[in-house]
Amino acid sequence: MYTVDNFINGKSYTTSKNSSIIVNPSYGKEIGKVLYATDESVNLAVDSSLKAFDAWSQTGLSYRAELILEFRQLLINKSSEIIDLCTTEAGKTLPDAEAELDRAVQCLTHAAAVQHFYPSHLSPNVAGGIDIADRRYPLGVIVGVGPFNFPILIPIVHSSMALVTGNTFISKPSEKVPSISRLIADLYKDAGFPDGCFNLLNGDKEVVESLVCHKDVSGLAFIGSTPAAKSLKILGVEHNTKVQALGGGKNHMIVLPDADLDMAADAAVSASFGAAGQRCMAVSVVVAVGDIADDLVNKIKQRMPNLIIGKTDNAETQLGPVISQENKDKIYSYIETAEPEGASLVIDGRQISDSMEGCFVGATLIDNVKPGMSVYENEIFGPVLSFVRAKTYEDAMNITHSHKLGNGAAIFTRDGGVAQKWTNEVQAGSVGINVPIPLPTYTHSFGGWKDSGFSETKAFGPSSIDFYTKTKSVATRWPDPKESKVDLGFPKNDK
Ligand code: NAD
Repeated sequence: MYTVDNFINGKSYTTSKNSSIIVNPSYGKEIGKVLYATDESVNLAVDSSLKAFDAWSQTGLSYRAELILEFRQLLINKSSEIIDLCTTEAGKTLPDAEAELDRAVQCLTHAAAVQHFYPSHLSPNVAGGIDIADRRYPLGVIVGVGPFNFPILIPIVHSSMALVTGNTFISKPSEKVPSISRLIADLYKDAGFPDGCFNLLNGDKEVVESLVCHKDVSGLAFIGSTPAAKSLKILGVEHNTKVQALGGGKNHMIVLPDADLDMAADAAVSASFGAAGQRCMAVSVVVAVGDIADDLVNKIKQRMPNLIIGKTDNAETQLGPVISQENKDKIYSYIETAEPEGASLVIDGRQISDSMEGCFVGATLIDNVKPGMSVYENEIFGPVLSFVRAKTYEDAMNITHSHKLGNGAAIFTRDGGVAQKWTNEVQAGSVGINVPIPLPTYTHSFGGWKDSGFSETKAFGPSSIDFYTKTKSVATRWPDPKESKVDLGFPKNDK
């Protein structure tokens, strides 16, 4: 049993009134507890971040990039500890935890190269010898709030771009998986980031809301469920806090009749049941177009019994647990609605997980799902795949459009023209053509459309700099003083 504390101004901070337990979902057993921040610690952290901002924001971009590289190396040195925490607290399988760390390291490589894509725009001699430049400035104190399902990657995505662009950062990780962020706090300090640049506060909704409403917090980078994302966006507007809020997903994978069905079935199984379906980019709906439906559903069904379900301290495990008993119960309750609402349970994963210790849900396949059914409309966030039958491409597109979420979408086909048409028409932030989980690399933008994202900026790529900075246009002229005269007219665009 261990206790996860807060980290303020370079030191552990343990004063706390509330706490919650940390559970290893493979066993459903308590392994530790996390101390929640109090009102006082929220104020202390914001104060410390604000003080650190003065000096930090004046440091050079390349100096900050060097420190990111130092931090990156320290993170790599701690790989085995981090992967271990990810498998025990988040219930990720070993390959999934390794891949997440790998992505986090890539993200730091990208952040350290910020000078190569830092947007700058200068227009020389726009009129009368005046140069105009858009200058960028960091926002100030940024809060980063993450979900449980990427405990390594998301705190690093948020903090690295915030810090390298000159902001100071307060991390509020998911209370279910706080330990990796606590380790990250130590590593930022060890890498040479001055005290106050990276603070860590634990807690739930209350702590997040008090940070967003705090007068000295300038920005919130949020990734989590849609209801929380939406409410924080509104709160941010009310308190003049810039908010980038990414929400949930219900990602459709359309399979056209010309697709290779074995390849499509492999992709559907991998993208639906990987990470026990707990990825915002997981495929949770397959839409089969035309008369391939029976074949495709059978091919998916045949692959499912081969999945190795089990505890994540076993390196062979492919399908691990869901994050908590509460989530397991919620997923079960969605599966229960399937048949009464007219769908067919092809494989009911509960038959496997019912007898298992821990927070497991067996891989579940539901056929004849239609818009309007609970399993279709809601983000289940578990290993449950809905199979929808569409007569034509247009039907498949209408179904996809009807859903309120638009995080990602994929199409499987050999027809480049149709794939292009679909790419242009589909209302989603990340699109895959024969790629089931189109999570881009950091040089490209990432963030959902419709109710999957409440932001004008994106989480990765150059667009993320638009979130972490604000611009000022600066007009400069070096005229000959001899030509100076009083002129009350509004400047004209003349010579
Ligand atoms: P969650 O919304 O319950 O919690 C996310 C974070 O917000 C946590 O730190 C939590 O403490 C805090 N929080 C929860 N409710 C809040 C509220 N009402 N107000 C303020 N803060 C609140 O999400 P989760 O269960 O931890 O994670 C799963 C969700 O995250 C899924 O919906 C998934 O699709 C989404 N997600 C989205 C992306 C993306 O890139 N779009 C990536 C990963 C996960």
